Amino acid sequence: MNKSFKALGMQEISDFDGTRDAPSPIERLEKVRTAASQFRTQLMQQEDVIYYQSVNLVRAPYPTWYGYTGVFAQKSLTFPFLHLLNRLFVIQYKDFNNQLRVLLFSPTDVVNNRKTPFFERLADSFPDIAFNIFAPQYTSIEDTLQQLKIKPEQVDYISYDHLHTQELRKWLGTADQPAYFPNAKLLVHEKEWNCVQGLLPVQSDWYCPNGANGIDPNKVITFKKSLALGSGLALVHTPGHTEGNHSLVAKADNQIFVTSENGISLDAYEPRSSKIKAIRDYAEKTGVEVILNGNTQEGSNDQYISMVMEKTIAGPLKSNPNFPSCACSSETTPYWLFPGLKQTELLGALQFGQLAV
Ligand SMILES: [Zn+2]
Repeated sequence: MNKSFKALGMQEISDFDGTRDAPSPIERLEKVRTAASQFRTQLMQQEDVIYYQSVNLVRAPYPTWYGYTGVFAQKSLTFPFLHLLNRLFVIQYKDFNNQLRVLLFSPTDVVNNRKTPFFERLADSFPDIAFNIFAPQYTSIEDTLQQLKIKPEQVDYISYDHLHTQELRKWLGTADQPAYFPNAKLLVHEKEWNCVQGLLPVQSDWYCPNGANGIDPNKVITFKKSLALGSGLALVHTPGHTEGNHSLVAKADNQIFVTSENGISLDAYEPRSSKIKAIRDYAEKTGVEVILNGNTQEGSNDQYISMVMEKTIAGPLKSNPNFPSCACSSETTPYWLFPGLKQTELLGALQFGQLAV
């Protein structure tokens, strides 16, 4: 399954080796924070990726209880649901062998992902509202690439921070189904890939049934640590939300954007700067630096450390330095059907650079 990373134009990252081995969690946190800060310094000296774009794809309601874990445990919930906006990230870069590459991060097969058990039950609980009203889709992967004039065969890699809700078979194909991206390979952390081979019930509620079944193993590249893909681009193991969670780290516009679903808004990454009183109060009273997205709690201490790691690598957002440049893969956003918590700062869809042809 794994070829040599060097031959693939990639480099394994050793910067975080041993940082989570200390006996006490606070020591692990500080070791990860120090390593993340050094990693950021090195990354800021690298070239930007050639092209970086995040695209609004689809919205979905999501329990507030999960999105801001702990915040509302001692409060009555006025707004039980918030609205997440799921994004696709299109990245063009040069790998370490100087090859031009296209990476799609979080390419969601919107229609087939709806078979994820949690969301199937949620849809059933909104019987009077059409699906496309409570979970509107803005565009598709196919339409986005057509607009950008990227042909399916030009996509080299697809990757996801983790495989919750993902149906991969349309993109990568099976023995019975041709791949929409005939040359694409999946980049996935080894632990995430191992998990989908045998999920516990608490996990499988969030995974699209059989979404990874029957995919040619030669189309799957697993990694054990973290992986640099080219100048200004890396996949960094950020366990917690799932065991094999990883974050997209990309340098664009001379800043670093870090993407995962560990947190669902900038308020979650910098709760003490939040204008949402409940979030700010909770952070001030407990001392937490981040608020976990906790629909699955595979490792909450690790998730906490990973979120601090993410925001340390990201550094301050140019447009509002009170928040880190964490470009959540699912960002909570305002929507008329689900009024409620108004996020302090919305990152929105981003676009930097020019596609090279
Ligand atoms: Zn998830």
